Amino acid sequence: MCARDRARRRLYSGGDPGGGRARRVAGPVSRTTMARAWRGSSRPVANTESPQEPMAELALTFLGTGTSNGIPVIGCDCAVCRSTDPRDKRSRCSVVIRDGANGQTYLIDTATELRSQALATGLRHVDAVLMTHAHADHTGGFDDLRRFNEVQRRHLPVYANPGTAATLRERFAYTFTDAFTFYGGKPDLTLHEVDEPFDLFGREVVPIPVFHGRLPILGYRFGGLAYVTDAKAVPDSSRDLLRGLDVLVLNALREQPHPTHLSLAEAAALIDELRPRAAYLTHLSHELSHAAASARLPEGIAVAYDGLTVTAEG
Ligand SMILES: [Zn+2]
Ligand SMILES: [Zn+2]
Ligand SMILES: [Zn+2]
Repeated sequence: MCARDRARRRLYSGGDPGGGRARRVAGPVSRTTMARAWRGSSRPVANTESPQEPMAELALTFLGTGTSNGIPVIGCDCAVCRSTDPRDKRSRCSVVIRDGANGQTYLIDTATELRSQALATGLRHVDAVLMTHAHADHTGGFDDLRRFNEVQRRHLPVYANPGTAATLRERFAYTFTDAFTFYGGKPDLTLHEVDEPFDLFGREVVPIPVFHGRLPILGYRFGGLAYVTDAKAVPDSSRDLLRGLDVLVLNALREQPHPTHLSLAEAAALIDELRPRAAYLTHLSHELSHAAASARLPEGIAVAYDGLTVTAEG
């Protein structure tokens, strides 16, 4: 039986549902704890909730975990859109990563709700922005970056592959000019094209090329942590970059196949092949509730939700 069949069989066999499989998941963190954690990124933040654990090297917080519409979807009365489970309220996809090795904070994508996501999680400081691609749900909050410039009084570096960079330059040209810097009226950004591993404040970041339908986009790997969203196909050369992971975040849209996104079964099969210690699914549609998707997943794979923080070996 090939790995894909094995994963699919595990996926639909009911398996061991729910959480408890991934160790050192911080779980939903109170707003107070989050605000304390993000204030001032110049020093690593101790895990005050589990003092007996060694300090995590990397902490990833899901700012948003929904597909492009966001959930609930405007004008939809389906069970998921009407759900009272807070984990079924999904804003557009983005994460922030706090690097315990250098004290820096990386934002991946600028989702439509960036401002409300930052307020909800106490995010006050960003040192670099990494873009996966330029679709509207991942760039809709781009202008909100201006507040970080205003507070930090310096340019923010933005990293993207050449295709995404070209679109950003065209769509947000005003953010890359140097006129009237740091006055809060516009973002002040520097754009860096990447398609090879690069240095970010002493941390090696590995771009992971994947295909979003036919569009070449990027995931990113930091030590034992990788974030890949909006993938439909992951080439063999990129799979090789995703082995030996502590934590993998991967997109899974719904049960049925989709031309530009991995389905639940496709994501589970890929995770089964890559064998990270733990995996989290993101970019879900309103066709999947948190509870229903969680119940179908095998051990080691959990469904992410807005506000969840997980930690990984750096
Ligand atoms: Zn998307
Ligand atoms: Zn709905
Ligand atoms: Zn997309």
